[in-house]
Amino acid sequence: MNRKIGPIVIIVLALLVIEVLYFSFGAKRRVELDSGHQLVMGTFARVVAVAKDSSTAKKCIQAALVEIRKVDERMSDYKDDSEISELNRDGAKRAVRVSESTYEVLQTSIEFSELTGGAFDITVGPLVDLFHSAEEETVAPSKEQIAQAKSKVGYEKLKLNSQNRTVKFSVDGMRVDLGGIAKGYAIDKAVEAMQTCGAIGGMVDIGGDIRCFGAPAKGKDHWLIGLQDPNVPFESSGDIVIPAQVGISAGEPLLVLKLTDAAVATSGGYRRFALIEGKKYSHIIDTKTGYSSVQLTSVTIISKNATDADALATAVSVMGAEKGLALIEKLPQTEAILIPLQPKLQLIKTSGAEKYIK
Ligand code: ADP
Ligand code: MG
Repeated sequence: MNRKIGPIVIIVLALLVIEVLYFSFGAKRRVELDSGHQLVMGTFARVVAVAKDSSTAKKCIQAALVEIRKVDERMSDYKDDSEISELNRDGAKRAVRVSESTYEVLQTSIEFSELTGGAFDITVGPLVDLFHSAEEETVAPSKEQIAQAKSKVGYEKLKLNSQNRTVKFSVDGMRVDLGGIAKGYAIDKAVEAMQTCGAIGGMVDIGGDIRCFGAPAKGKDHWLIGLQDPNVPFESSGDIVIPAQVGISAGEPLLVLKLTDAAVATSGGYRRFALIEGKKYSHIIDTKTGYSSVQLTSVTIISKNATDADALATAVSVMGAEKGLALIEKLPQTEAILIPLQPKLQLIKTSGAEKYIK
């Protein structure tokens, strides 16, 4: 090689190598930020954002948490000044106007009632209250009390007016309870906010219900979500955790799900129940019988969004394995993993569930 050209060729080649390295690593540079556990909606929320730089990731986490708090402020029945508390106070007297998001959740809830033959029913409030007082008084509710509460329950008694965005009760004493869907909705709103703010990946967990999009910054091309064994006591914020990342003791997961753009929600009587006269009553109630649903230990639904996963997990808990599975099989991009009461640890899955299991 020509003595003068040789070093120039080497320099040009070296520059080329540097450029290739810069583009292949620089362009892929991604940071991942974690909000840690935040107390909200009566449970813990955790947001992870993946972005090109840490200031975007930080902004996205803040945007997600703002959305979650907004849903809580509007839809909590523990907060006296929420829209749902106002509806529960005045709904029988007048049509109560609500925000677009609260209206959307009420309307979606009614759609899920229709889809599930009434298994999912947010007008369950009077029955929830009855079992709460029964727990405090440590006496099981009487048949008359159940019948009395049931007369104030039923989604067809909820009157929505889309033009005025108002809601009205057709029976005095009704009470709406969004405990079976609001967490899912808040997760979806938080994910939307993160995507708008420029996150290229993320994960939102509220009390064990989770939705993720994109991929984690390091290593894996999907998020790994551990499904908690309901028969093992644990101290986690929810029944689903990310085993490799969560900093709290959650025991061995029963199985690990791998998700990219999907949501997962778990319902089950094993975690939240009332103990009355030595008998366990799940916090999920079958509005047809007026008693809590008892057939399944835990119901996990995988779906495209968290609102659907949350509502369907509650509904399938009421419907039981046979009817619940038949419904989920019919729904596109939706899978179920059920744990029956007996035999313990025998999982029942829909036909497409396996592809999400690691
Ligand atoms: P968790 O809150 O443990 O995640 P769910 O998502 O299944 O569990 O929600 C249970 C809550 O939903 C109950 O605490 C109650 O507020 C409400 N709920 C109870 N029964 C029903 C029902 N049949 N349909 C809709 N919501 C219900
Ligand atoms: Mg639910």
